[in-house]
Amino acid sequence: MKIEINGLDVIYKNGNHAVKDMTLNIEEGMFGLLGPNGAGKSSLMKILVALMKPASGEVLIDGRNIQKERKKLRTYLGYLPQDFRFFTRLKTWEFLDYAGSLAGIRNKKQRIQVVDELLDRVGLLEARDRKANKLSGGMKRRLGIAQALIGDPKIIVVDEPTTGLDPDERIRFRNILSDLSQNEVTIILSTHIVGDISSTCQNMALLNKGEMVLSGSPADLVKQAEGHVFNLRLTQEEYDRIKDDFHVISSIPSDVGWDAQVVAKEVSGFDSQLIEPNMEHAYVYYMEHKINDVSINI
Ligand code: ADP
Repeated sequence: MKIEINGLDVIYKNGNHAVKDMTLNIEEGMFGLLGPNGAGKSSLMKILVALMKPASGEVLIDGRNIQKERKKLRTYLGYLPQDFRFFTRLKTWEFLDYAGSLAGIRNKKQRIQVVDELLDRVGLLEARDRKANKLSGGMKRRLGIAQALIGDPKIIVVDEPTTGLDPDERIRFRNILSDLSQNEVTIILSTHIVGDISSTCQNMALLNKGEMVLSGSPADLVKQAEGHVFNLRLTQEEYDRIKDDFHVISSIPSDVGWDAQVVAKEVSGFDSQLIEPNMEHAYVYYMEHKINDVSINI
């Protein structure tokens, strides 16, 4: 399903303007919302799943307004919130069974079948009889996505699902989402972790302070940093001098002092070599230079 966001503003009661005049189109497949904490990702997602009302603007799902047809359109939506927790002492399968009955699957036999299919899909069949609140962090997150999948949603919204997971679990979770995105669904994934986007999303938007500052493919973002990532061969004295002026991505000791990778508009006066940017470089470049420059111009 296709999502159109037109001129969206989200303003909290205390006056916080969390999303500012946002316009964005999201097609089928996996779409990433990338931005630092406070960028407005969670606020946007709550609007997308109709848990909050915008101050102005609209969200259309296949041309239908989510606020006007909330009840009907919510049946197409699955949501894994950032702070998804289990307050129950239910077993893993019982938790999903309960979620299934809330989602309106009345027939017990059918519900159990759905539950076991979902547990299998997220690799939790063997943990079926364990207490949900005793599962590991990664398993809980996978149970969270299973819960979001009940009712076969066409749009799945997941808010910062990989935060706090170890690398194995992060990759596993991303693979589950990638598999889902093969089935003509739209997955919207918010994260502040660049690697989540580069390895899974065909399209993305970069958010900062409530504004959408770039939308396109991850490769479009990477292109922005071409000509701005350098490998510098530095003496200790030079290294100490540049440390505070440039964003140093990595540094390793060398025969002369340090080999440092830096992201900068330009460098001169050092033994430097341009290198191919990756997503992490591009994110740093965009957030530190492009956005600051834009605000200076304004
Ligand atoms: P992100 O998900 O990118 O971290 P959020 O949508 O959570 O961003 O927050 C965007 C802005 O809205 C922040 O300035 C945050 O402090 C503010 N905000 C979020 N939730 C609330 C709330 N319930 N009440 C008031 N302000 C909020």
